[in-house]
Amino acid sequence: MSLRWKIFYLYLIVMVTSLAVTGFYLYSYIEKSYLDNVKINNLVQANMVSNFVSRFVGTPSSYLIEPTISEYAKQINARILFTNTDGKVIVDSAPSKDFEGKNLLSYPDIKEALNGKSSTSIHNINGVGWAMYAAVPVTSKNKIVGAILISSSIDNVIELLDSIKYRMIYTFSAIGVLIGIVSLGIASFITNPLKRLTEAANILSQGKLDYKVDVKSKDEIGKLANAFNKMSFSLMKLDEERKRFVSDASHELKTPLASVKALIESLINSRNQDISFYKEILKDVNGEIDRMTKLVNDLLELARLDKIKSPRIKKVEVSEIIEEVVESLVPLARSKGVNLSFNGKGRIFAEIDPDRFYRMVYNIVENGIKYTHEGGYVIVGLYEDEEKVYLTISDNGIGISDEVLPKIFDRFARGDTARSKKSGGFGLGLAIAKEIIDMHEGRVNVKSKVGEGTTFEIELPKSKGKRY
Ligand code: ADP
Repeated sequence: MSLRWKIFYLYLIVMVTSLAVTGFYLYSYIEKSYLDNVKINNLVQANMVSNFVSRFVGTPSSYLIEPTISEYAKQINARILFTNTDGKVIVDSAPSKDFEGKNLLSYPDIKEALNGKSSTSIHNINGVGWAMYAAVPVTSKNKIVGAILISSSIDNVIELLDSIKYRMIYTFSAIGVLIGIVSLGIASFITNPLKRLTEAANILSQGKLDYKVDVKSKDEIGKLANAFNKMSFSLMKLDEERKRFVSDASHELKTPLASVKALIESLINSRNQDISFYKEILKDVNGEIDRMTKLVNDLLELARLDKIKSPRIKKVEVSEIIEEVVESLVPLARSKGVNLSFNGKGRIFAEIDPDRFYRMVYNIVENGIKYTHEGGYVIVGLYEDEEKVYLTISDNGIGISDEVLPKIFDRFARGDTARSKKSGGFGLGLAIAKEIIDMHEGRVNVKSKVGEGTTFEIELPKSKGKRY
C-alpha cells in the first residue's frame, strides 16, 4: 500500500473513530437528560398520588380514592394503579379496570415500592408502545400500606430521541465523507513532494547528476529535498572531478608517450650509425619512462588512498621518520645548492601510519627543495603539546601566488606549469599529502608569499582517540 493511502486510512480511522465516540457520548448524554426528566416528573406525580391515598386509606373517606385517582390519571394522561401490601391491585384508573384484583408482586417496581423504595423502569409494551413505570410506596402512620404505580407513555420522547439519533448519524456521516475527501487531499499534499523526490532519485540514478528537486516547504520533507539537492550537487562535483582526473591523467601519460614515440621514430629513421647517438636518444627515452613510472606510481598511491579509509596506525617516533626523510632528500638539496635542516627537539611519539606519514613529509619537503633557488633553505620543525604534534616545513623559495594557493592540494594542480614540468612534477604530490593528512584527521595550513617563500603548518592528533 502506498504511503498516500496509508496516511489517508490512518487519518480517516482516527477522525471517524473520534466522531463516532463523540457522537455516542453526545447521544447518550441527551438520552439520559430527557429520560431523567421524565423519570423525575413521573416520580413527583406518583408521590403526589401516594400522599393523597395515604391520607384516605383506612378512613371512612376511602371511597374517594378510586374516583380521584381515575380523574388525576385522566388529567396527566397516564394509567395509575394502587395496590395493597400484597401487590393486589385495588384501583386501576383505566376505564377497562382490567388490572383490578390482579396481583402485581411479580413487577419489580411494585416489589421495590412495597419494600419502601421508589423505582422507575422503561418498557416496550406490545401493541401499546413505549411506557415508563414509576412506583412509590404508600405509607400511613409510618407503615407501608400499599404502592402506587404510574405508567405513562414516553413514545413522544423516544420518537424525539430517535430523530435526534438519525440526524446525528446523517450529519456525522456527511462529516465523515468530508473528512475522507480532506484526508485524501492531505495525504496527497504530504506525499506529492516525496513522489517528486523518488522521481528525482530515479533520474539521478540514470546519470543525470545535475537534476534538482523543486520542493519549497521548510518542513522535514523540505529538508530532505535540500539534502537530496546537496547530495546531487556533491555527486556532480565528484563526477566532474573524476572526469577531470581521468582526462588529466590520460593527458599526462600521453605527453611522455608521444616523446618516447618521437624519439624511437627518430632512431628508426636515422642513418646515423654512431653508437653515442643511439645512447643519447635511449637516455632520453629512459628519462621519459621514469617520468611515466613516477606518474603511474603517484596515481596508484592516490587510488590506494581513496580506497583505504583507515590507516595502519602504530605508535612511532615521529622525529625519527622526519630524520629519515631529511636524510634521503639531502642529496637532492645538495645538488640544488639548497640548505636542508631539521629542527626537531627531543623524541616525539604519535599514533600514525608511518609509511604514509613518511610519504606526506617527503612530498612537502621535496617541493620545498624543488621550488627554492640555489643558496636558499628548507627548514623542517617539529614540536608537540598534550594532544597534537605540529610540523612546519618552511622555505625561502619562489612562493605561491594568491590565485594558485587555494588549488595546490587539487589533483594535477600546478602553479607555474613550465617550471613545475621542468622540475618533474605532475601536480599530484600535494594531493597525496593532503589525503594522508585527512586520513589522520589532521589539518594543514599554508602561508606563502611570492618571492619570499612558503610555510606548511601541519597538525596531527597524537592518538586515535583524540582525533577531531
Ligand atoms: P608538483 O608535482 O607540480 O610539485 P605538487 O602537488 O607537489 O605538484 O604541488 C602543486 C603545486 O604547488 C606546484 O606545482 C607548485 O606550483 C606549488 N608548490 C608546492 N609547494 C611549493 C613550495 N614549497 N614553493 C612554491 N610552490 C609550491
